[in-house]
Amino acid sequence: MSEAKSLLSSVFGFSDFRPGQEEIVEAVTRGENTLAIMPTGGGKSLCFQLPALCREGVTLVISPLIALMRDQVRGLREAGVEAGALTSANTEAERDEVFEALEAGRTKLLYMAPERLAAGGTIGMLRRIGVSMIAVDEAHCVSQWGHDFRPDYLAIGRLRETLDVPLAAFTATADEETREEIVQRLFAGQAPRLFLGGFDRPNIHLAFAPKNGPRKQILTYASARKGQSGIVYCSSRAKTEDIAAALRAEGHAACHYHGAMDADDRREVERRFSQEDGLIVTATVAFGMGVDKPDIRWVAHADLPKSIESYYQEIGRAGRDGAPAETLTLYGPDDIRLRRTQIDEGLAPAERKGADHGRLNALLGLAEALGCRRQKLLAYFGEDAAPCGNCDLCDRPPETFDATTPVRMALSAILRTDEWFGAGHLIDIVMGNATDKVRARGHDGLPTFGVGKEYTKPQWQAVFRQMMGHDLVRPDPERHGALRMTENARPILRGEAGITLRRDVIRAAQSARPAVRAMVNEEDAPLLSALKAKRRALAEALRAPAYVVFTDRTLVEMAEKRPTTLDQMAGIGGVGATKLERYGAAFLEIITGGAPDPVHPMRRKMAGRSAGAVFDRLHEAQTDLARGTDGTEKPMSCTNSTLKWIAERRPATLDELERAPGMSAPKVERFGPAFLEVLAEG
Ligand code: ADP
Ligand code: ZN
Repeated sequence: MSEAKSLLSSVFGFSDFRPGQEEIVEAVTRGENTLAIMPTGGGKSLCFQLPALCREGVTLVISPLIALMRDQVRGLREAGVEAGALTSANTEAERDEVFEALEAGRTKLLYMAPERLAAGGTIGMLRRIGVSMIAVDEAHCVSQWGHDFRPDYLAIGRLRETLDVPLAAFTATADEETREEIVQRLFAGQAPRLFLGGFDRPNIHLAFAPKNGPRKQILTYASARKGQSGIVYCSSRAKTEDIAAALRAEGHAACHYHGAMDADDRREVERRFSQEDGLIVTATVAFGMGVDKPDIRWVAHADLPKSIESYYQEIGRAGRDGAPAETLTLYGPDDIRLRRTQIDEGLAPAERKGADHGRLNALLGLAEALGCRRQKLLAYFGEDAAPCGNCDLCDRPPETFDATTPVRMALSAILRTDEWFGAGHLIDIVMGNATDKVRARGHDGLPTFGVGKEYTKPQWQAVFRQMMGHDLVRPDPERHGALRMTENARPILRGEAGITLRRDVIRAAQSARPAVRAMVNEEDAPLLSALKAKRRALAEALRAPAYVVFTDRTLVEMAEKRPTTLDQMAGIGGVGATKLERYGAAFLEIITGGAPDPVHPMRRKMAGRSAGAVFDRLHEAQTDLARGTDGTEKPMSCTNSTLKWIAERRPATLDELERAPGMSAPKVERFGPAFLEVLAEG
């Protein structure tokens, strides 16, 4: 087994790499310059943390957010890794401690905020402490065209050249331009080894629903998930406040977050969210970059996001721990109008606006999809996939109908009124409602008046919304949102193409009480709650977020597999050696319902490793021979540390055995042959 693989389980407690991690870890460990693009939650941190442990010297980690650095450092220390952070948020005592560990050569990972790079003396200091590699998190911050641009990131390229060490850059943003900029600025144009990770996040359930009393829809969704941490994204600040208040009125722990709040208030929300179990945050998109909570169980959009990329990034905040997570995105004609208007009225050059409409169209296509949503989402990012079985359309395929005729009727109504009206008025025309407005304009005399009587109003609304979703018609901001036909509609109008639409969406929205996916089956649920309560107590004592102790996924596995010994506990994903030592017994006690058999601390350190089993057998052999083969001789025994040495070093001969600390010739004579036999067995 490679060193990396064994550290993966002994330090981080994971039995396998996630897709893509192993290749990246190998390249980074070898000291190659690398650029890895992995989706949020894909497990980027491990790709520099693990190589840092395999390599000599200190790995310098540059990351844009202080809160995230502190969380990572805390997580590493919990796992028994020497890590420290130098940021403006350090107290003097903390800073001294970091420097002391650095000078003593203990530190493996040093986290640093980019603005520190410019400070006098930093480069000299980094040289002196023996930085042997640079890892750059959120590398897209170096791109001036992105919205996360951090001028301080520009200093990283020079730092790499000055220190002359390999650099590993990580980001979740994949587009070509950003990638090129990273190569220019961090690697002086010399292409690094590129890793393009897959975009799938199979544990996230995808669902969309047309708006139908959206506030109520969100409240119903949240009530079904009471006690789980979630985010509700809203398109306006006022709405974040309104929905948070409504959630509180229904007994949820909820608070709002948006860009117009004080920095202090925002930080307080971030802190509460990361530490409390089951808090709901209603937020504008401003909430996100600083959120590294792995156990967000659901994300809901009260309004349609602005593009397919934003959608992907926002839902991606759910379920980073790999345990099941759910999402729901609401959308309606007003959203489409709002997003189109924002693009049209923005300051971007024309070709950029065209691209933005395209990204919105991709999202609308996903919203109105007729088949597996994940397949469609991944196809947008260039990946082929089979139907996923984990989206609302796989759960329940939509009912569809040939909508060519009603769509032609609608297009005709639009053209005959010179593209000057919105959906409400157009629906009155096709349904034959002689309202004042219809009569005043003489629209009751149009040949299209009343041609669509056979469809109900909700059905017509669904048709118009889907026509907008398929980009057959677009609201024109210069005509107060009047619908105008696009080129895409021409073939349908001319009778050269047909179109299939969904029939059931409106009805489904009314009746569907979204099914909640439980994290474990009914039988294991009480145990999972008990494990969570224990975790909360331990986390509160540490004044740290719950996941620093164990993630949801780890607790789920404990609840399902119910380990009864420390060895079995060590086999649970996320239980590394240090955590086993710190928390293993406490959680075992919850599972078995009693205090575990006392285990010698020396033995506990070896739990889960093959050396542990060997130790047990050596111990047994020794007990059998404590008074010699015939049970009459002088009692004799070896210390646990002697047995540990033997179990780990596996001497092959009696001579080598005698070199074990605490061994002696008489002990070798008494136990030696039996011990060698144990070792020979494996
Ligand atoms: P990101 O790519 O968004 O930075 P993180 O590095 O925060 O993702 O990892 C997300 C979650 O996945 C963390 O909770 C981490 O512990 C977990 N994780 C990472 N690698 C593995 C693995 N090989 N097996 C299981 N869980 C993993
Ligand atoms: Zn699917």
